[in-house]
Amino acid sequence: MSKGRFGDFGGQFVPETLMAAVTALEEGRNSVCPTKEFREELSFYLKEYAGRETPLTFCRNVSADMGCRVYLKREDLLHSGAHKLNNTLGQALLAKHMGKKRLIAETGAGQHGVATAIAGAVLNLPVEVYMGETDCQRQSLNVFRMELMGATVIPVKGGTATLKDAVNEAMREWAASSEDSAYILGSVVGPHPYPEMVRDFQTVIGTEARRQILEHEGRLPDTVIACVGGGSNAIGMFHPFLKDDVKLVGVEAGGRGKAPGEHGASLESGRPGILHGALSYLLQDDDGQVIETYSVAAGLDYPSVGPEHSMLKDTGRVHYESVPDDEVLNAFRYLSRREGIVPALESAHAVAYLLREQDRFEKDDIVIINLSGRGDKDITREVVHEQI
Ligand SMILES: *Cc1c(COP(=O)(O)O)cnc(C)c1O
Repeated sequence: MSKGRFGDFGGQFVPETLMAAVTALEEGRNSVCPTKEFREELSFYLKEYAGRETPLTFCRNVSADMGCRVYLKREDLLHSGAHKLNNTLGQALLAKHMGKKRLIAETGAGQHGVATAIAGAVLNLPVEVYMGETDCQRQSLNVFRMELMGATVIPVKGGTATLKDAVNEAMREWAASSEDSAYILGSVVGPHPYPEMVRDFQTVIGTEARRQILEHEGRLPDTVIACVGGGSNAIGMFHPFLKDDVKLVGVEAGGRGKAPGEHGASLESGRPGILHGALSYLLQDDDGQVIETYSVAAGLDYPSVGPEHSMLKDTGRVHYESVPDDEVLNAFRYLSRREGIVPALESAHAVAYLLREQDRFEKDDIVIINLSGRGDKDITREVVHEQI
């Protein structure tokens, strides 16, 4: 079966009870997404509501420091402050066109839950968000944000009461109610068609950046850098450059160190395995049990990664590396001071890679960093205060 495969990776490893829902979604997507009506309506929401296109900012101070030409793709300026809305608006609009009456989502730190609540509010669709009870306590502000926008947050008690338990619960609910409910997945993970569909919604990032850099510089960049959690901002940025002679770098969460449980670097340290319906690099122990992850950036705290990234790692087209938390916090402070732009801790991983590798770049080299989100959500964190 080659459907939804990226090399050996991807697929549809779902229980019988979910097969009908996944198949209906695939058919809906194939018939609705290519239509002129859908594309025009989505671009209306992206432009007039969410604020696309986002700027590609030339950073004079960082460029002077690094000795090359550094640009930031400003997804931090998208409504809600991160790229996640590109995807939730797309999936929610698709749900509406498919006649669904309700949106279901899972969330870890709450960012995807908030982005789904926004899409549900503006498209008049009720939203139910499954969230681990532990996460609800840690992220009470995001629970409040979701509820403010009319979403219902359902705390999940099982397991470690965190993201993967919330995913399991949301999938169970979707299997039981897929007739009238759509499951809005937050990254390029899960069974086919999600990795392809979410990529297609996020590709707007790279399509814009490619056109913008040609306008600014008259040529393509030498290097493009993005952080990788599930991998949606990175693949959305990389995809339009895959066929070009452009170095692509994905930066994973190095956390507190290389020991199991201390990081979120699935591509660097994982082995192929199945999680949430797809075969991909997965952090697992010798018995195939999923290992808990850790990162200072909540959005990178996922033990697997989108299957397309697994393929791009194996073919060597994209280079993946991890940076540890201390370098990330340093980059967070650096970009804030030098450009007056506070990056999300997730996005600060990409900045940290540039800081680490700065000696490799020549004066005329053009580097684009995908700034996936803004850091306002992170400035109340104790760990940030300790370092600054
Ligand atoms: C959620 C999030 C990420 C990680 O998700 P991807 O699917 O890997 O993009 C990265 N940056 C920000 C700002 C996020 O909110």
